[in-house]
Amino acid sequence: MDRAASWAKRDAALVWHGFTQMSSFTENRPVIVDRAEGHELVDVDGRRYLDAISSLWVNTLGHRVPELDQALRDQIDRVAHSTMLGNGNRVVVELAEALAPLVPVDGPHFLFASDGAAAVEQALKLAFQYWANCGVEGRTTYLAFGGAYHGDTIGSLSLGAGGFGTDLFDPLRFPVVRAPGFDDPRCLATACDLVSEHGASLAAVVVEPLVQGAAGMHLAPAAGFASLADACRAQDVLLIADEVAVGFGRTGTLFASDQCGIRPDLLCLGKGLTAGYLPQSVTVAGQRVFDAFLGPDLSERTLFHGHSYGGNALACAVALRHLALLAERDVLANVRARSEELRGLLQMRIEPHPAVRAIRLQGLMCGVELAPPHDGLRWGRRVCASAVERGVLLRPLGDVVVIMPPLTITSGELKRIVDVLAAALDEVTA
Ligand SMILES: *Cc1c(COP(=O)(O)O)cnc(C)c1O
Repeated sequence: MDRAASWAKRDAALVWHGFTQMSSFTENRPVIVDRAEGHELVDVDGRRYLDAISSLWVNTLGHRVPELDQALRDQIDRVAHSTMLGNGNRVVVELAEALAPLVPVDGPHFLFASDGAAAVEQALKLAFQYWANCGVEGRTTYLAFGGAYHGDTIGSLSLGAGGFGTDLFDPLRFPVVRAPGFDDPRCLATACDLVSEHGASLAAVVVEPLVQGAAGMHLAPAAGFASLADACRAQDVLLIADEVAVGFGRTGTLFASDQCGIRPDLLCLGKGLTAGYLPQSVTVAGQRVFDAFLGPDLSERTLFHGHSYGGNALACAVALRHLALLAERDVLANVRARSEELRGLLQMRIEPHPAVRAIRLQGLMCGVELAPPHDGLRWGRRVCASAVERGVLLRPLGDVVVIMPPLTITSGELKRIVDVLAAALDEVTA
């Protein structure tokens, strides 16, 4: 037995993995990571895997970036963590000051949490209490989209469209007004109509700007989002942008809202915030929302919500250095150039493949949808398994193969990903 197999056995004995059927965990030959170098993960046997999913969409500049490692070491020598409840920490102030001019929110205020789901949960509670604090009754529901994914807590799950076995929790999910998913070209226009129709009962509209990631990388045209923002303004409904997946350069601009020309009232950030180093998320509230919570000390206008590790100093130190690095290294230019290269490679090598139904790409977010002749073939899973065998780490969403490389990916590495995907497709669908 190689070391990986024995580590997988020890793993399966005690560790419970998310979105994973544990009875087949070891059969699916999990990669047990020992360390990493740049864009590659190295397993316990020394085998190397190109991290083509950015460790489930969180990594931006690769692993063990010397500047980020140093920022972490420097912060450890000051303090690892201190509470944000009623008190502050200098590196958190510095991070908020650095983010403020960059985020697409007017008069931004930063409420830190740990996971993306918690950032969404905070946004939906902020929107709800906003109207209560304003003395407005009846604005207690949300408009969300088909295909939406906002995280796995009950609140964020309620905003999400379901699927992936979440139907079981329907009795716990609160109802929302549901617009079509991004796979429907009329989704944004329909959403605008629904905002007009339900305006007076809506606390907020929640949307993933530009790309619905977990839905299978479905894209909506940037221009349509401004109309949605207009519809919200006309009905005085708050706009929540969930940029947990698309934020920090993933789509070719620092934030997807920039491309969409929208300034949401509430913005959720997570994943890439800390370059994939540490769990940290943030809900950014605009001035109008923030002001509605001001009042006498301990009054009911206060936000009675806060996560223990929100504003963790180590995470914020990395996030702060990461923001500077994105600019210093002109990472967005790389995203745009490599995105065009990837588009060309996929058009040449993957699109003509009879097993491929569609390819969707925005920046360095890509979904290759397969076209299995009938159900139950598990093509997505098997194509990715074959790619992993060939040294490229991929993980599908159903029958959509996701390619989500670090933002600093090179031309040579993109070619390696596409070569491996082509070989895996040939092997599995032969
Ligand atoms: C991943 C994701 C989340 C949830 O973030 P977690 O850190 O996994 O809780 C929320 N919204 C979107 C759009 C995401 O892609």
